[in-house]
Amino acid sequence: MAEGRMKKIRLGISSCLLGEKVRYDGGHKLDSFLRDRLGRYVDFVPVCPEAECGLGVPREAMRLVGDPRAPRLITRNTLIDHTERMKSWASKRLRGLEQEELCGFIFKSGSPSSGMMGVKVYDKTGSRTRKGTGLFARAFMDRFPVFPVEDDCRLHYDSLRENFIERIFTFDRWRRMESSGRTRGKLVEFHARHKLLILSHSRKTLTKLDTLVALSGKERPAELYGSYIETLMDGLKLLATVKKNTGVLMHIIGYFKKVLSGDEEKELLEVIERYRTEQIPLVVPVTLLNHYVRKYRPEYMQGQYYLDRRRS
Ligand code: SF4
Repeated sequence: MAEGRMKKIRLGISSCLLGEKVRYDGGHKLDSFLRDRLGRYVDFVPVCPEAECGLGVPREAMRLVGDPRAPRLITRNTLIDHTERMKSWASKRLRGLEQEELCGFIFKSGSPSSGMMGVKVYDKTGSRTRKGTGLFARAFMDRFPVFPVEDDCRLHYDSLRENFIERIFTFDRWRRMESSGRTRGKLVEFHARHKLLILSHSRKTLTKLDTLVALSGKERPAELYGSYIETLMDGLKLLATVKKNTGVLMHIIGYFKKVLSGDEEKELLEVIERYRTEQIPLVVPVTLLNHYVRKYRPEYMQGQYYLDRRRS
């Protein structure tokens, strides 16, 4: 990841993942990768819904009970219902978070307050399903539906982690672009520079966005920008597979056809083939392509975030 950015990306995170002792038993759930490695590139904004809504540390453990689509937050032994307290606190906290310029949130998995998905929900007989979402996480995603979100467990998988990082960097570029005013011209440029990145996730999304931008003269900027970011962030959730990336890399060669020497083209094709057969990581063909971008300076490729996805 590129260090030395002027302003770090701001990410919300469940406080216990940073090692804060805010869990019901007074403990924490430190994730060293998040705090020590990802933390070099982002400024975290920690949130502990249960401690911050006044339940204290330590406190009685809670669980979700009832309808998985609208569960109640109930203490395990004394059966006190904290649903309304949590919802009312969350509503105020989310208003505050609107000012924080967040580019996403990392939730603690499994928590009845912070879990993003697959949280246990119990029925009256004590049997359970894993179809719940923690109350704060639900409120956050309802308030900020396009924000990139993930839970800590999923971020242990390379492909999901890479996907999340790509989404937060893209969202950060979007925020910066949008903060200087919404114009059709800026959207056209933003879209042009993200085309290959989008293609590596979803051809269908790229087609939708191409159409949206082409017809953009007919929509008001607020609606246009809203539809664009919603479609973009939805499409970026689809993983960029080896097959999709290989397609993009082969597509890029087309921009160099007239300038690469025979040996250079042969080397590039060999490197892409080694990537396709999973002998080397994506960074190898991307590094070689960046070298050719610097050498031959093809205009279209110089601005493409696909080759430098962690750029502001
Ligand atoms: S999971 Fe959420 S509510 Fe529980 S300790 Fe961590 S931040 Fe607090």
